[in-house]
Amino acid sequence: MNSSDIDAHEERWQAVLARDASQDGVFFYGVGSTGIYCRPSCPSRRPNRLHVSFYLTQTEAEQAGFRACKRCHPNMISQQSRHQALVAQCCRLLAAEGEQGQSLSLQALAKKVGVSSFHLHRLFKTHTG
Ligand SMILES: [Zn+2]
Repeated sequence: MNSSDIDAHEERWQAVLARDASQDGVFFYGVGSTGIYCRPSCPSRRPNRLHVSFYLTQTEAEQAGFRACKRCHPNMISQQSRHQALVAQCCRLLAAEGEQGQSLSLQALAKKVGVSSFHLHRLFKTHTG
């Protein structure tokens, strides 16, 4: 695991603590002690971080053996809203980088949000034109 992975985990964990609904669909978290996975805004009690793992898709979480939470229904997030969440997240990242006078390449951006640059390019075309 390199340091940018650790940063991404820290950001995701902070989003979970804040029940950040803008991160719904961007990632999911699984709780090892319960075998359940949730969206970040789930109203349930915050888990112990030691038991938490992060997944970018519902499929990944399910393949890791987690079941969808009955409270926040992470499996009900549509592909469409997941894509919109990704695009919104990219826009925020781009705006933040712009303020620092840096520009983020499509590849770097794709890596940050955990999708392929090809996929991201297509998403941007579809959602922002
Ligand atoms: Zn939940």
